Amino acid sequence: MPKERNQKIYIVGHKNPDTDSICAPIAYAFLLKKKGKAAIPVRSGEINPETKFVLNYFKIPAPVFLKSAKGKKIILLDHNENTQSPKDIEKAQILEVIDHHKIAFDWPELIYFHTEPVGCTSTIIAKKYFQEKIGIPSNIAGILLSAILSDTVVFRSPTTTKEDIGVAKKLAKIGKIKNLEKFGIEIKKKKATLKGLTTENIIFSDFKIFDFFGKKVGIGHVEVFDLREVNERKEKLIEKLKEICQKENYNLLLLMATDIIKESSQILAVGEINYLEKAFSKKVVNNSLYLPGVMSRKKQVVPPLMKAF
Ligand code: MN
Ligand code: MN
Repeated sequence: MPKERNQKIYIVGHKNPDTDSICAPIAYAFLLKKKGKAAIPVRSGEINPETKFVLNYFKIPAPVFLKSAKGKKIILLDHNENTQSPKDIEKAQILEVIDHHKIAFDWPELIYFHTEPVGCTSTIIAKKYFQEKIGIPSNIAGILLSAILSDTVVFRSPTTTKEDIGVAKKLAKIGKIKNLEKFGIEIKKKKATLKGLTTENIIFSDFKIFDFFGKKVGIGHVEVFDLREVNERKEKLIEKLKEICQKENYNLLLLMATDIIKESSQILAVGEINYLEKAFSKKVVNNSLYLPGVMSRKKQVVPPLMKAF
C-alpha cells in the first residue's frame, strides 16, 4: 500500500512549547526520516526566546505551526494529556507517544506508548539514536543537549537523573559544547526573566491545564534568577489570575515562580486554595506560598496537589 506508506507523520510537542517540545520533535523526525519514514516536526504554539536562541545557535529552522491535527498521523512528544495536545487531536490518528510526564492518557486504538522517568524527552530520543546506532549530526546533538539543560535547569532540578547527565555528556562531545554549566546558564538566561512580558504573558508562557478528578486546575510556571521580579508585580499578577479563574471556570489557578539560583519556588494562588494548603500543609498568605527546595511542577507540585484533590 504505497499510499499508506507515503502519508506524512507529524511529530508534535505540547502547547506553549518549551525547548524540549520543539527540539525533541525535530530530532525524532530526523531519526524517522533516516529510517525511510515521511516524518515532519511541527509545533503547537509560539516559539519562546530561549528556544529561538537554541535554534539560531545550531542553525536549525523552526518547525511550522500545526493548525489542526484532524485526519493526520500524529506522534505526540513531551506530553500525553489531551488538554496539552494540538487542536482536533481527538480526530487524529495517534501512532505513538514518547514522554516523561505522568500518564493521563486514554485512546481507543492500539498505539506505541513510551514513557521513562527521566528529566527530558530529548534524553529518550538521544537514547534511541544510540540504541539504533544512527549517527547524530552535531547540530541535532546540540539541540537535544540544549533541551536537556533547559528541562533539568542545568541539572539542578530534582527531575534530573543519572541518565540525563550521561546522555548530555555524550551529546556535548558530538555537539562540540565544552562547558555545560556555562552554556546551560546562557540558555536559561534567555527566558528566565519577566522583563518585557505582560501580566498575561507571564501566566501563560508555560501553562498547563490539569483535570484532577473532575476539577479544573491551571498551573503556569516561570523561572527567574531573582524572585524580586515576581514580587514587584505580585498585585497585578493576582488580579489577573482572579480574572482568568472566574472567566474560564478554574477550580484552582496557580502561578509557580521558580528561583533558579535559590532553588525554591513561590506560588501565587487563586480559587480553591484550600487544596494547595492541604497539599503542602502550609497556609497560603495573601494568595502566596513560598516553597523552599521546590523547582519542578511535575515532580514536586502536581503529585501532592493531585493527592489533595
Ligand atoms: Mn515540556
Ligand atoms: Mn520535557
